[in-house]
Amino acid sequence: MDDDDDASYPANARSPHSPSNDTPHPTVNSSVSLLSDSSVSDSTGDQFASTVHAVIRLIQCPCCSRPLRAPLRLPCGYTLCRSCLPPIHERTGITYPVGEERKKGFTCYWGKEDGCAGEHCLGDCGADVLLGRLVDVFDEVLCNPSASSEAPSGEAHGFRVTWVGLGGDQPEKVVKSADVAGGLLEGMYDLVQRGRFDYDASEVKFEVHGPMDQERQLMERLKEAVRNELDCQVCYSLILDPLTTACGHTFCRGCVAMVLKNSDLCPACRRKLNMASTMKSEPINKRISDIMGTLFPEQVASRSDAAAQEEAAVDDDTILPLFVSSLSLPTMPTFLHVFEARYRLMMQRVMQSREHRFGMVMHNRAGRSQQGLGRSQFMQYGTVLVVDRYELLPDGRSLIVATGLYRFKVLSSYVVDMYYVGRIQRVDDISVIEEESREAMETSVAGGSSLSTENTSDEQPLESMSTQQLFQLGLDFVRKQHRRGAAWLHPRVLLAYGDIPTEPTQFPWWFASVLPVSDEDKYALLSTTSVRERLKIVSGWVKKLESQEWMTRSRLSITSSL
Ligand SMILES: [Zn+2]
Ligand SMILES: [Zn+2]
Ligand SMILES: [Zn+2]
Ligand SMILES: [Zn+2]
Repeated sequence: MDDDDDASYPANARSPHSPSNDTPHPTVNSSVSLLSDSSVSDSTGDQFASTVHAVIRLIQCPCCSRPLRAPLRLPCGYTLCRSCLPPIHERTGITYPVGEERKKGFTCYWGKEDGCAGEHCLGDCGADVLLGRLVDVFDEVLCNPSASSEAPSGEAHGFRVTWVGLGGDQPEKVVKSADVAGGLLEGMYDLVQRGRFDYDASEVKFEVHGPMDQERQLMERLKEAVRNELDCQVCYSLILDPLTTACGHTFCRGCVAMVLKNSDLCPACRRKLNMASTMKSEPINKRISDIMGTLFPEQVASRSDAAAQEEAAVDDDTILPLFVSSLSLPTMPTFLHVFEARYRLMMQRVMQSREHRFGMVMHNRAGRSQQGLGRSQFMQYGTVLVVDRYELLPDGRSLIVATGLYRFKVLSSYVVDMYYVGRIQRVDDISVIEEESREAMETSVAGGSSLSTENTSDEQPLESMSTQQLFQLGLDFVRKQHRRGAAWLHPRVLLAYGDIPTEPTQFPWWFASVLPVSDEDKYALLSTTSVRERLKIVSGWVKKLESQEWMTRSRLSITSSL
């Protein structure tokens, strides 16, 4: 038998290990009769054999049935070999985020009933470093060159496996079988490696000859080797609710959320993560979660119990002291001079806390009714700030520089020592995929020709502009004003808020920080849930400012405000 010629024996052909190898697609009858007159092993052995099947399946590609090669994680959570990706097609009507991979898409093998939306962007598919490593671990433990060599009849140690799988070009499923010499785990791994055992095999039956105790030892060795790879690099415990980053690294979902509070870099490779605002919509890594659930069910259960208790005990993130003053924005600095007694006290307490955070909310000057809060003294949406610099003056006043982390909505509030404390809920952006589909939908509804025409005339409604065009509109305005020496773009201002951003994500926060429009207008940004929505708001300001009557007035207000 020529083992190198794998291609001639795909999973949907009959295994060459079968002694009666002459018929490529055995009929149901012949296989059943083969099984019926054989001696079936005891029930614990059967149980073990089905465990072996479940374990081996953990590293199989659902497309080619072989061990996953360069595993690629799809946005729906499924994983396949990079080489097993469906055909790629061009995606249209999308300009943000930028990237060659974002222009390519494909139709997924899985559909609605499997929890997949059907269409994916190649840019959302990422390598899976941990899974790749686990497949290697399986190979290191289970690849035994002497296993599964041709099984001579009467071999003392070996097994026969029978299953129902796809019958190649035939639509109906067929019964297949293989006779393998050596142990169950090694033998099954060998079959999978050769692509001869279907991923979707059903009615799998084993007939084992020889002792099982060595098998159990090997299973324990495999488990141990796999377990050694499954510690989260942040908390050093078994990964809980595995979340895989775009760079391919896997951590507990909770650990990623915690890391993202202080940094936007991957804890493993220090690459930028870009997922803070889409955290909640990131899918679980199904394959890794399956591996843990199959091999370590008790550990997974006790780990999630412990985490649930911890979560119930530590609730500090959702309760924050509120500074009622002006508008603060995410990623941007806020400069405060604290002189009121209640806020002096509040800031002292913030500085004594572990994370040095507080919530900044605007005064509700117009006395507008806030959802669930009535006519509260402050506006409902705010920004969490972390103190970067704190200078306590001898008379008790303080000077503070803080940076905006993320936005929130106040759900309820109470008063402690004259200042407000709020129960807050984080405001996050929609996922990148949703962001893209909104752009594609809005631009196609509102004319459709906007992507092909380069000019962004004043007549073009903001709705129909691509996300990149909206960004460019703001950028062009800022550059023009900069060239004209606008006071609000003074080097002093750029020193405080940073240079003109080149990222659409960053632009609205920066623009709103430097542009002299009222805080009431800027407040609209705080409740938005997409980059496109924010770019539309700031583009609206630009259009207003550029219109004739606004320009004269704003020139006056711009010069007078600085
Ligand atoms: Zn594959
Ligand atoms: Zn999918
Ligand atoms: Zn962790
Ligand atoms: Zn990474």
